Amino acid sequence: MGLLIFAEMSGKEVHPVAFELLGRGKEIARELSLTLEAVVCGAEDDVAEELIKHGAENVYLYHCEQEIMMCKECLSSLAKEIRPEIFLFGATKFGRALAPRVAAALNTGLTADCTDLRVEDGEFIQIRPAFTGNILAHIKTRSTPKMSTVRYRVMKPAEREDREGRTIRKDLPPNIPGSFALIKREKMESIDIQNADVIVSGGRGLKNREDFRMLETLAYLLGGVVGSSRPLVDDGWISRDHQVGFSGNTVKPRIYVAIGISGSPQHLAGMRNSEMIVAINSDPSAPIFRYADYGIVGDLYEIVPELIEKLEKNETSHE
Ligand SMILES: Cc1cc2nc3c(=O)[nH]c(=O)nc-3n(C[C@H](O)[C@H](O)[C@H](O)COP(=O)(O)OP(=O)(O)OC[C@H]3O[C@@H](n4cnc5c(N)ncnc54)[C@H](O)[C@@H]3O)c2cc1C
Repeated sequence: MGLLIFAEMSGKEVHPVAFELLGRGKEIARELSLTLEAVVCGAEDDVAEELIKHGAENVYLYHCEQEIMMCKECLSSLAKEIRPEIFLFGATKFGRALAPRVAAALNTGLTADCTDLRVEDGEFIQIRPAFTGNILAHIKTRSTPKMSTVRYRVMKPAEREDREGRTIRKDLPPNIPGSFALIKREKMESIDIQNADVIVSGGRGLKNREDFRMLETLAYLLGGVVGSSRPLVDDGWISRDHQVGFSGNTVKPRIYVAIGISGSPQHLAGMRNSEMIVAINSDPSAPIFRYADYGIVGDLYEIVPELIEKLEKNETSHE
């Protein structure tokens, strides 16, 4: 019996969350005497080799587009054939869309957005925040495969080692040809907030959606991207890709600048592990200051333009 991970591709590279799944997967597989296996769609032998070096004993390769319905067919047919005990996905945008489809096809459950996976008393336990992040639920699943999506950047990636494994090329399941045709790939505007080194996030302290421009300028000058608390996403001021927190992205940048953000538990859940937190807030008692390495009490509409001016001067003096 095996512990299978879906190794998502990001362009020609394996998405780093797959190495994190292999890292924790290796420990769990050892404790439960399972074979650690990976499946990948739309990759070549060199990718399988990388997954093996990171701990996979067997890698199943499907030569098809990493397209959601094709992947669903490949993964569910593989799971029916090899019957993994545990099946893990990264909680990326793609993984969050794919895993429930596979779970439905396998008639099993899915624990979404796990922040930890463990073995306790010989049982596989999935851990995820519940009740808006106020408690951590420890979930034991009876149906098999036991399926989870796991948040990116919450686990240590597997170390790369010199090791051998098997690459198994799989034929596409018979129901694929003709069923799905990729007509056109549209590139949506999206940002890679989870890998950003610097994030400048805005909250309800902003008065208008246009004020995000000011944050974009600051982010640009710091070499980062713009993030947001949830209310502004819900109001349609900025896309969900930018949302940080419990129901958004978990981030771990070198610098996180929280501007006009109070520091609710749900927001903190997504950014409290940042290396350095800088908070700008007019309310000195805002909870965010309890987590900030540097706090500036004041009106963001005075402080942010001043910061931008200083950084721009600094830039021109280096030219
Ligand atoms: C199930 C669930 C999931 C959730 N998921 C998320 C999530 O993923 N991410 C998330 O962010 N929230 C999430 N929330 C919402 C969360 O509970 C808070 O409502 C939200 O984080 C508050 O956003 P905020 O800090 O921007 O706004 P507020 O709490 O309203 O804070 C605004 C801050 O701006 C300051 N301010 C106002 N004017 C200025 C000014 N001129 N200059 C400087 N500071 C100023 C104020 O002092 C205040 O501290 C979730 C809630 C639920 C129930």
